[in-house]
Amino acid sequence: MTDQRHVDLAALLGWYRALGADEALGDTPINWLGRGAAAPGCQFALTAAAKPRSMPAAADAPPPQPPWRAAPIVPPGTAQRPFAAVPADAAIMGARSAARAAQSLPELEGTLRGFDGCGLKATAKNLCFYRGAARSALMLIGEAPGRDEDLEGKPFVGRAGQLLDKMLAAIGLTQEDVHITNIVYWRPPGNRTPTPQEAQVCRPFLERQIELVAPKVIALLGGAAAKHLLDVTEGIMRIRGKARAILIGAHSATAVATLHPAYLLRTPAAKRLAWRDLMAIKALLRG
Ligand code: URA
Repeated sequence: MTDQRHVDLAALLGWYRALGADEALGDTPINWLGRGAAAPGCQFALTAAAKPRSMPAAADAPPPQPPWRAAPIVPPGTAQRPFAAVPADAAIMGARSAARAAQSLPELEGTLRGFDGCGLKATAKNLCFYRGAARSALMLIGEAPGRDEDLEGKPFVGRAGQLLDKMLAAIGLTQEDVHITNIVYWRPPGNRTPTPQEAQVCRPFLERQIELVAPKVIALLGGAAAKHLLDVTEGIMRIRGKARAILIGAHSATAVATLHPAYLLRTPAAKRLAWRDLMAIKALLRG
């Protein structure tokens, strides 16, 4: 390989990594843009108002250029997506009716596997539904699967998950006693925080999941999960540790927000706050 080609390939890989594509998920790349009707979300028709003014056919599009050389591929003002986008309202409505029909967690999982309304599915390797017991007095809800979770197809199995298991052990609980999930079911590229739209599209499934698990206490792990489910804007340090009555779907429970285990790994001094929250959760479970 020539030196120049080597430099170009290294720059291309660096660019992919900066975009969040830090993992080779398959041996053959998938060009979702060229898949047209088979692309994720294509079953949700665009409304006339949302339809882009012009959609270049994939075959007409100029070949992709390495970013460090490229002039813009699509001129400003023209459509950037050669396949139908998923309008949030259509995807959320689709999610609602699909989730409502599920009568058990295996059914809900099957429905999620067939659901293409969340864009995260396109870049994730696996669905991460839940880990632990199917019914439980304590449900723990985190932000989103990470790399290890995506590879294994289960929430909280990486370093943060190991710390979570130790925290649970400190109040006498094992994986078999709890139900662990996230506000979104697929890994966001590069482990970014899920967008509000991604969380909203997954929400009907999460609500149905909560109804089926029927927990007494819901522990919200980190600011993203807490803000999403408690509908508050304050930071996690302000809202953590307080018990709140919540109604999710048709299920009432007590929710407690606490610090995310990944944050505790980076900030061990904050473990004393998490310990207090754990004691509050233990007391709620007993009460
Ligand atoms: N962080 C989360 O919020 N969820 C996981 O499943 C793993 C890490």
